[in-house]
Amino acid sequence: MPNFFRQNKAGFRRAVVLGLDGMPHSLLQRLIAEGVMPNFQGLIAKGSAMSMTSVVPTVSSTAWASIATGCNPGKHGIFGFIDRVPQTHEMFIPSSRTLKAETWVDLFSGMGRRVFSMGVPTTFPPRPVNGVLISGFLAPNLNGATYPASVASELASMGYLIDIDAWQARENREKFLDEIFYALDRRAEAMFKYYAREAWDLFIAHFMDTDRLHHFLWGDVERGDEQYTAWFNKFYARVDEIIGELSSRLYSDTLFMIVSDHGFCTLQREVHLNFWLQQAGLLSFASPEPKQLRHLSPQTRCYSLLPGRFYVNVKGREREGRVQAGAEYEQVRRDVAAGLMEIRDPDGGAQVIARVLMREEAFRGDDLDAAPDLIAVPARGYDLKGGFDKRVLLEPSPVNGTHTFDDALWFVNAPGLACEDATVMDVLPTMMNLLELACPDGMDGRIVWGTL
Ligand SMILES: [Zn+2]
Repeated sequence: MPNFFRQNKAGFRRAVVLGLDGMPHSLLQRLIAEGVMPNFQGLIAKGSAMSMTSVVPTVSSTAWASIATGCNPGKHGIFGFIDRVPQTHEMFIPSSRTLKAETWVDLFSGMGRRVFSMGVPTTFPPRPVNGVLISGFLAPNLNGATYPASVASELASMGYLIDIDAWQARENREKFLDEIFYALDRRAEAMFKYYAREAWDLFIAHFMDTDRLHHFLWGDVERGDEQYTAWFNKFYARVDEIIGELSSRLYSDTLFMIVSDHGFCTLQREVHLNFWLQQAGLLSFASPEPKQLRHLSPQTRCYSLLPGRFYVNVKGREREGRVQAGAEYEQVRRDVAAGLMEIRDPDGGAQVIARVLMREEAFRGDDLDAAPDLIAVPARGYDLKGGFDKRVLLEPSPVNGTHTFDDALWFVNAPGLACEDATVMDVLPTMMNLLELACPDGMDGRIVWGTL
């Protein structure tokens, strides 16, 4: 391994990681150019920032699990925010119990170092740690979402929200904007409280609010709506104040990273892939009102879960499976992949699917049983859905922003972050290297410090 660390020796002994969910690197550049984020601009002048790619499927549960473990989904086992038991077709929400790889919090706790982790997706239910853990996205409520348990009532008394009720934005945008500013401030308040009070060697604070803002306002901002752009910039000005405050409180031996898990773009249309499978004669239902996987008919050869995950109805693996492993399985995968690449948006003729990856191309690991058999990566602006009740292939969405695989953000408070093909999996190994800590074997991420 090259000795970049010695060349860049910064003497870091502890780390602060601020997670800004879904904040694109290109957005940071724009907001800096427009003078919205002077504190972040000042940090970059002394440190380094770059873009990185996410993982597929590009959702927060999967991407944060990759950031926290340095592993691809084939090793950490989180493939989305919903999954299924093949033998029964029961659906479940993957949780910290599903996570098969050690996280940064587990690693530091195991070394006897103190940790604080707030809001990171797929940390529910909280595992015991050497410090404090506050679960994030998909924890149903604060009760039972913290370690130690007593932290939940402290947070409740501060008005802390695990996540806002983003769907209300569809009905009432003013209320949504009020609530998102409120949630951001409570989260910052909680972060600073524990920052000052707890002893920590690794301090992680994840903000989901940026992602929520993007889902509901991105399209408006991109088409130049003045009112919503003003709200959007005001929100990021507040984020910048929080960053300024946090960076002013760093100790001289603190590595400070700001990380996002994916990029964002304007959402063009939702794509209902189970309807497409139905049209292609690969899927049918045994129920007139299909809502669940259990409603699939035994004739089904393939089905989809969002976003873009496809499962072949393999005999012996799936409930009422009918496709033989081997040649028939491969034929179904080839048919699905070829058909997906043919889908065009009738409004303009754009290709809807950018590429299709087979399980073994997308994931690496000893146990890929839970992985989808193939995965579709959407073209920019298409949101791949997995519901069962739609009777249309493409339709407008109630939200106007969606995720991109590229353009995630990574900032470090020292010069030297440089890599042309960094991924979110590189964050943890690089962090360990900068802290002069040995990385356990088996991570997929690389050390991308001064590697251009
Ligand atoms: Zn999102």
